[in-house]
Amino acid sequence: MDIQTICVHGCDKHYDTTGAVAVPIFASATFAHPGVGQSTGFDYSRSLNPTREYLEHTIAKLEGGNHALAFSSGMAATTVLMELFEPGNHIVASDDLYGGTYRLFSNISQKNGIKFSYADSLEGIKSAITPSTKAVFLETPTNPMMRTTDIAEVAKITQERGVLLIVDNTFLTPYFQRPLTMGADIVLHSGTKYLGGHNDTLAGLLVVKSDALNERLHFIAKTIGACLSPFDSFLIIRGIKTLAIRMEREQETAKALVQWLEGKNKVAKVYYCGMGGMISFSVKDEQTAIKILEKVKVIKYAESLGGVESLITYPMLQTHADMPESERNARGIDSRLLRLSVGLESVKDLIADLEQAFGSLA
Ligand SMILES: *Cc1c(COP(=O)(O)O)cnc(C)c1O
Repeated sequence: MDIQTICVHGCDKHYDTTGAVAVPIFASATFAHPGVGQSTGFDYSRSLNPTREYLEHTIAKLEGGNHALAFSSGMAATTVLMELFEPGNHIVASDDLYGGTYRLFSNISQKNGIKFSYADSLEGIKSAITPSTKAVFLETPTNPMMRTTDIAEVAKITQERGVLLIVDNTFLTPYFQRPLTMGADIVLHSGTKYLGGHNDTLAGLLVVKSDALNERLHFIAKTIGACLSPFDSFLIIRGIKTLAIRMEREQETAKALVQWLEGKNKVAKVYYCGMGGMISFSVKDEQTAIKILEKVKVIKYAESLGGVESLITYPMLQTHADMPESERNARGIDSRLLRLSVGLESVKDLIADLEQAFGSLA
């Protein structure tokens, strides 16, 4: 079945007999047992809830995985993931990570005894792996610099060394990239972004192929309790129905905007990975960056990405504010860098908005 169809129809689970076309929101914390020692399959919603399960099956199917878990945010999913590791374990991560992930690693996971190395190339990853390395954590393309890594090549290394390969697939979604089919072990999503797609709810997802890994993660998930509510699960299911068409259209608009930005002499450099709806660009000075942020009207100056509304972000002050300045500068995340999440507005209106924001510069 094509991915467009899976997006619309989700998984094949049915929980009711009414023929409801949309999955019901099972707003129940607990489930009655038919007899002693018996269960309908559902006992308590922290462990399993039908609406959330439907979402979990759907994302597993989209990513080519066998199991998935849904959490109250992307960071909740990553926090659960980190509980797979023990003090002394070492993780090699992309050196241009989502700021919140970097904050988790450097403030919480590190305090809990997990060690990190950051690498920016295949060679870098290879040489950073030590006998205590348990996982490689990749973001591709990276945020906000849009650098890409060949997942299949990294998978060769991780499989040879017997370490887990974790890929944050938030930016491209299974519509453009399916890491599990390229040898990754775990896919992570901030469902807040493209999967939900409407800037109206937070969610996080983990997807795996392995039964054993799923069992360990499910145990941690139900123990920690950062699960996604039935209402929010419903919103993500609804968002996914239009994922394919949104990704296509946002990519088309992004490509037109990349071309437009490249023709602007106030733009020093455009970063685009060739796919999807995320663009970063560097302008000639800080003053120009600030004026653009203050003058855009259709495009909102706000954190986050992947929704129907176009958003412009100042990574230095927003997503990457907690990264030390020297680390930020080394990655090119400076006062001239802006990040644009392209939404579903008409390309004409977006260009006109940017044109007036650029044109209004003194
Ligand atoms: C937003 C984001 C996260 C964190 O997800 P939340 O839903 O905001 O907790 C993780 N990774 C990437 C790439 C993100 O963009």
